[in-house]
Amino acid sequence: MKVYDTSDIRNVALVGHGDSGKTTLASAFLFVAGAVKRLGRTEDGTATTDFDDEEIQRKISLQTATAHLEWGGTKINLLDTPGYAAFVADAKAGVAVADAALILVEAVAGIQVLTARTFRFAGEYDLPTVFVVNKLDRENADFDRVLGALQARFGRETVAVQLPIGRDHGFCGVIDLVTLTAHRYSVDASGTSQVEPIPAELADEARRLHGALVEAVAETDDQLMEAYFESGDLTGEQLTAGLRNAIRLRRLYPVVCSSASTLVGPRSLLDLIVGLLPAPGERGPVHGTNPKDESPIARPVADSEPIALFTFKTIAEPYAGRLSLFRVMSGILRADSHVVNARTETPERLGPPSVMQGKTIEAVEQLHAGDIGVVAKLKETHTSDTLCDAAHPIRFAPIAFPAPSISFAVEPKSKGDEEKISTALVRLTEEDPVLRFGRDPRTHELLVSGTSQVHVEVAIQKMRKKFGVDAILKQPKVPYLETIKKRVGPIEGKHKKQSGGRGQFGVCVIEMEPTGRGGGYEFVDKIFGGSIPHNFRPAVDKGIQESAVRGVIAGFPVVDFRVTLVDGKYHDVDSSEMAFKIAGSLAFKEGVQQAKPTLLEPLMAVEITAPEEYMGEIMGDLSARRGKPQGIEPHGTHQMIKALVPMAEMLTYASTLKSITSDRGSYQMEFDHYDEVPAQIQSQIVAQAEKSRDGEGG
Ligand code: GDP
Repeated sequence: MKVYDTSDIRNVALVGHGDSGKTTLASAFLFVAGAVKRLGRTEDGTATTDFDDEEIQRKISLQTATAHLEWGGTKINLLDTPGYAAFVADAKAGVAVADAALILVEAVAGIQVLTARTFRFAGEYDLPTVFVVNKLDRENADFDRVLGALQARFGRETVAVQLPIGRDHGFCGVIDLVTLTAHRYSVDASGTSQVEPIPAELADEARRLHGALVEAVAETDDQLMEAYFESGDLTGEQLTAGLRNAIRLRRLYPVVCSSASTLVGPRSLLDLIVGLLPAPGERGPVHGTNPKDESPIARPVADSEPIALFTFKTIAEPYAGRLSLFRVMSGILRADSHVVNARTETPERLGPPSVMQGKTIEAVEQLHAGDIGVVAKLKETHTSDTLCDAAHPIRFAPIAFPAPSISFAVEPKSKGDEEKISTALVRLTEEDPVLRFGRDPRTHELLVSGTSQVHVEVAIQKMRKKFGVDAILKQPKVPYLETIKKRVGPIEGKHKKQSGGRGQFGVCVIEMEPTGRGGGYEFVDKIFGGSIPHNFRPAVDKGIQESAVRGVIAGFPVVDFRVTLVDGKYHDVDSSEMAFKIAGSLAFKEGVQQAKPTLLEPLMAVEITAPEEYMGEIMGDLSARRGKPQGIEPHGTHQMIKALVPMAEMLTYASTLKSITSDRGSYQMEFDHYDEVPAQIQSQIVAQAEKSRDGEGG
């Protein structure tokens, strides 16, 4: 495996809506560049970057994978990311370490929900962005329409740098609007092309768009603007350099043409990546903090700097152990490099540097600043950790993955597998930072949380295939909360058992009041004098907190209230911490009952995209689900509805939307905020909770 200098590396993330062709384009790049002998296909499970069993079976990417190729002496690292709502969070991992994003957009469907979402991800990392209009070989593909939609949505920065030659099945080449050359691709699916004169029927359009590009580039830079005013044009050199600069600074987002499956376009796109996208060192220093004192550090992406690696992805291998994918943020990684984990401050032993080509690991002598690699069997390093030179510590900001929004109870299929399930889940959560699990303190059930039902289902499938343990998922639980609406007090909590031997005695008097939504819990000690000795007061607080977790009216955690401890009584011999804990808990429960308790439910921000004709039925259904519409906007050929809907009403939405739209709609949702549950539904939930409590035998 060859070693590449920083200036000869390009890191590009392939992002976009599911099915837009990211994995196919990665396969096309690898094939065209000769990095693989056969063209990989998602359909038959041979794509280099979709290698997980579950990915092959579902024919979609579930996690970010890396592959690399060489083009004109430059190494291109590809980060193929997932584009389905349930897994798109993992795309952040790829975006976090790339130097540019290729956002794939389908030439037929146009902009889709996750096109915009992944564009936001790219923005968060200030990534140069290229829109790839893919599947131009399909019937009804329309480059102009998609270009118009992209410009309307993402602004004037969006400019065509290519124009397609031929339509639909006749799509056979691209016109490079920078150089005004035509590249006709061979029809034998070899992905090769040759330069030809621009077809006469496209000449006017090509010149017009070239003019628009020149003007757009000139507008990004004062000096170029001056040159443009003087001569009415830019030289080829000025245009290329100006465009390169404008892309790097996100002042322009070039739009290109592609058919990844017929290999028309990928070659030109590789030229563009090498010629117009920045090398790792060109985007300025990377920013981190000194873990010792949190002071900011700007570190140039250069070999001459101390070594620092950022782990963006962990893969749980049942046999090979844990694989950590990283980017060399600075310095050179060699076989004998010594590093510490900046979070734990413990040394990590790195094996020899390696890179990953899909699932294959290849050793490499060294990796220069900006390159992407993999290391096996790190002891304590997780996704988002920094490994660095102990003498020059630095820590990079963790990747901001979204919080999970839905939980399921998980039960082992065979009794006695609990332990195995926990072990497997630990490994899976290492690999998937959005997945969480834990015991519900109230029901003692094992809960697995993720972004959606599919997300959690896939985790369970992986558990079965990778770790040989099977589990059953039960109806997702809605994480209701309890809170109070009224100020109450004084309320006495008294625990007294004084019959024979050493007794138990503790009395506390509290007041309670709401702190407002999101206000949290507060405990205020306002006892004057010694009605309760200092050392017992924290026990009251503890007793309250422990009871709050278990809930009062329906068994859900009580949140957002303040307790003021105002008085109490104690006994020299019979008082104990336990007695005051119980007293606190009794007072708290009584207080909640009096303070107009209520239930809160999570509301989800839902975005539903579907063709216009289904809007009426979707809206009707949403209102039956207690949804509050927030607006409708055009979305390519579709419309997008935004709404706030209680999570409890969205648990089975996937199948409903499918049947309303004949599977032409898609949706995604994320947690937005908590709001009060309507009274009638509250009483049902409370009754249900009482029933299940009785069922437990008290
Ligand atoms: P991803 O989810 O974005 O990674 O999309 P895939 O690469 O898995 O592609 C989704 C489907 O679209 C697969 O069936 C591909 O064969 C198909 N596909 C990808 N690119 C093209 C293309 O340029 N033209 C056509 N006609 N189909 C394509």
